[in-house]
Amino acid sequence: MRKRIIAGNWKMYKKMGEAKAFIAEVKGRLPITAKVEMVICPPSPYLSELVNESEGTSLKIGAQTMHDVEEGAFTGEVSPSMLADMNVEYVILGHSERRQYFNETDESVNKKVHAAFAHQLTPIVCVGESLEEREEGKTVERVSSQVEKAFNGISADQAKAAIIAYEPIWAIGTGKTATSEDANEVCKEIRQEISKLYDESTAAAVRIQYGGSVKPENIAELLSMEHIDGALVGGASLVADSFLKLVELA
Ligand code: PGA
Repeated sequence: MRKRIIAGNWKMYKKMGEAKAFIAEVKGRLPITAKVEMVICPPSPYLSELVNESEGTSLKIGAQTMHDVEEGAFTGEVSPSMLADMNVEYVILGHSERRQYFNETDESVNKKVHAAFAHQLTPIVCVGESLEEREEGKTVERVSSQVEKAFNGISADQAKAAIIAYEPIWAIGTGKTATSEDANEVCKEIRQEISKLYDESTAAAVRIQYGGSVKPENIAELLSMEHIDGALVGGASLVADSFLKLVELA
């Protein structure tokens, strides 16, 4: 059975005090048995502090992006070894906002997936189609190609440990959610692509999240679908109460 995973992507929100207050509140109310994997991905300046604050709990910390090389003259970037050094455990890669505003490509995402595994970081690999692609009936083609390229040269064992987040771009931050049937259909295609690239057992092991306007009101329905193993949540992960509700409903 695949363990469910709820990851909060805070994007460029919160001050340090608010971030610490969130962790303190969640820590005090964490379920005793962590049947769901829980990850918060804060802005990078808060990573180290939040790793310390959540130490010894079932709440894990992830980064929202990283560079793919160890070190070098890359002003403003954070390297995979820096994340590993801070005991960060996850990293979101290829989020559509990174692709749109920071020129990330399938090729650069692939390099980052390799770098994540080289540093024992669990990658949350984001894929998803634009509204235009959906309307042209190109969703599956687009998403399958993103998966194929992101996993180029990645071993089956590594792929089994990866998390894929299916996030239709038109559903992010818009309040529009894909219907659970549509989301499940695409997640099924993603699993099929993994099966094609590797084998059935790898496809059965890889966890696929849905992302795009997930909130307490729609998570149960989305997670009732066969191929959806969790959620990558933006807006609704910013408030401790609603994050905990999502975890509870998962
Ligand atoms: P949203 O963002 O939940 O605010 O739509 C999701 C994401 O960008 O990961």
